[in-house]
Amino acid sequence: MIKKLYPNGKEKAFNLTYDDGIYDDYKFVELLNKYNLKGTFNLNSKLMKENFSWTHETGKIIKRISPQEAVCLYKGHEVASHTLTHPYMNNLTKKEILKELIDDKKNLEEIFKKEILGFAVPFDFYSKEISECVKETGFEYGRISEESNSWIPSEDYYFWKASIIHFNLNLENFVNEFIKTNDELALCQILGHSYDLEVENKWNLIENIFKKISESKNILPMTNIEIIKYLKAIRSVKISENKIINNSDLELWFEVDGKKISVQPKKEFFIKWDNV
Ligand SMILES: [Zn+2]
Repeated sequence: MIKKLYPNGKEKAFNLTYDDGIYDDYKFVELLNKYNLKGTFNLNSKLMKENFSWTHETGKIIKRISPQEAVCLYKGHEVASHTLTHPYMNNLTKKEILKELIDDKKNLEEIFKKEILGFAVPFDFYSKEISECVKETGFEYGRISEESNSWIPSEDYYFWKASIIHFNLNLENFVNEFIKTNDELALCQILGHSYDLEVENKWNLIENIFKKISESKNILPMTNIEIIKYLKAIRSVKISENKIINNSDLELWFEVDGKKISVQPKKEFFIKWDNV
């Protein structure tokens, strides 16, 4: 039997995809770093430059961190685009959509001095047209604001759903079941805003989840872009009766007859079945 694995022979992956780039991310990133987890932070470059703030219904002021603060804070994590100005996208023309995407990508690349390949939609409106613009702008994926309620990763990288939104009352149970599952390429990706953890008083809940995940030796913390690139590569391998062909640029991992092996980029692996 052949089972596909994540890098370093890990069976499962874990990611947090958090939006808006706000001051509560300081506490959130501190927790991620404490448990060696990986986050993907979806940012609006124009609102960051303006230190934009708004008042939550609880009275809490929610403020964007500055570009300089973001460069330090998100070191070791992924930064992705969340549009330039966080518009509700249903009323935008194609030209306006592209401007929101292209300008944000360019600004973030200048701020962080690296290629930005991920996108997460602001609010909850998304369409085929937006997904095509996301692809056209050069992003590798477009994360929508819906949960799949499943640890089987989506096949549609431009309508990408996180596994579960942190508000979901089933969150703890979902994570416990994820830790137990043997499903191939299982992924737990939690979506949210760190200010929700503050206003809903959920810091302890999220820290308990981080602790449990970090104690599970079979789960690899990854950024969303690492996950997407890896899934695209491992889903494109050709597996015949006695050969695994890796046409990708990544080292790919498998369990073959109970043994963990990796196949180097552009190489083949010949399978010697023990019981044959
Ligand atoms: Zn947002």
